[in-house]
Amino acid sequence: MSTKGFTTRILHSDRAIGVEHGSLHKPVHNSITFEHETAADIAAVFQGKKAGYTYGRQVNPTVVALEKKLSLMEGGLATTCFATGMAAISATLLSLLKAGDHLVSSSFLFGNTNSVFNTLKNYGIEVSFVDATDVANVAAALQPNTRAVFVETIANPCTQIADLAAIGKLCGEQGLLYIVDNTMTSPWCFQPKAVGAGLVINSLSKYIGGHGNALGGSVTETGVFDWANFPNIIDAYKTGAAQNWGLLQIKKKGLRDMGATLAPESAHHIAIGAETLSLRQERSAANAAKLATWFAAHPAIARVFHPSLEAHPQHGRAQGLFRHFGALMAIELKPEVDCFRFLDALELAVLASNLGDNRTLVIPVAHTIYAEMGPVRRAEMGISDGTVRISVGIEDIDDLLADFGQALASAG
Ligand SMILES: *Cc1c(COP(=O)(O)O)cnc(C)c1O
Repeated sequence: MSTKGFTTRILHSDRAIGVEHGSLHKPVHNSITFEHETAADIAAVFQGKKAGYTYGRQVNPTVVALEKKLSLMEGGLATTCFATGMAAISATLLSLLKAGDHLVSSSFLFGNTNSVFNTLKNYGIEVSFVDATDVANVAAALQPNTRAVFVETIANPCTQIADLAAIGKLCGEQGLLYIVDNTMTSPWCFQPKAVGAGLVINSLSKYIGGHGNALGGSVTETGVFDWANFPNIIDAYKTGAAQNWGLLQIKKKGLRDMGATLAPESAHHIAIGAETLSLRQERSAANAAKLATWFAAHPAIARVFHPSLEAHPQHGRAQGLFRHFGALMAIELKPEVDCFRFLDALELAVLASNLGDNRTLVIPVAHTIYAEMGPVRRAEMGISDGTVRISVGIEDIDDLLADFGQALASAG
């Protein structure tokens, strides 16, 4: 199977591990616990000496089938799922870092990730936010106690693209853990393992699930990082090959102990969604590129943020690294255009937070998802009061152009 294409492998991944009764999908196992034949069996499973299921907070057959699918998608060794993308991010960092450690993070971040990183400071973990579009800023922020570097691929909402390959090289040279949030690109567009990421995070709620009907998150171990050099792995998890230690600790501390478990029902929705990831993204990314060109020529628009545009500062980088330019974009309305009037006039595009849905979603970012952040951080991130984020869906492009056209006309 490993020589087959991305979509073929995803479609047939459940069959490859064997499915009950010849089902084509792994069924939803809504059992919290699992019976064992003998006392010796239950002891061996609990001690990790035998494969098997212990308790639904840390393991479930439906979720395991999705984890295998995600490992295939990312070209990784193993994956652990969580209830949401934020659960995956917070569990990963809280399991791996401790007081006195230092994290270098991109300053262009999903708003809630920015918020949770500030919370880490309350636990004695130092965090430096840097402009990660240039590796020099990351290199300058490194300290003797730096344990990890965290970046997103394409940042939300202004689509800055981290210096992904150069940061990976730097982390490799320095023996640092490189964590990449691949949500915005998805493994169809980009595999962070290719640039040296040790851990890859995905919000499954977005493109991978794709239908806006299930929340989920995941962490994939790529096998690139040498956990034997990581000082925070506790002795109990230094069993077997060192390449498995990090994810084992994330699973035990971040999932079993913290308990933000992905529900089997949600795992099933996400697995079905993942089957069409490539088809949906091809369509939404093509729609986004057409819309970006159209907005760029529109007199009511001051700026358009989308990597497909030649004027985008990282257009060349995106071309070199990604399969397409993504389906998320932002527009900045000219000051004379009333932002709320424009949004209220839209008939097709939906006023809603979330991205990666099949439907086109729009949101005025300064007033909503980045309201709590305050004007200073917003300015650093390039966000103004007239910035509108658009998560482009798979609608027919002419319908999207007509809707944005009429809404801009009626907002003056
Ligand atoms: C949405 C998102 C998250 C959080 O995912 P949830 O599943 O909503 O918790 C994390 N990172 C990025 C880049 C996201 O877009």
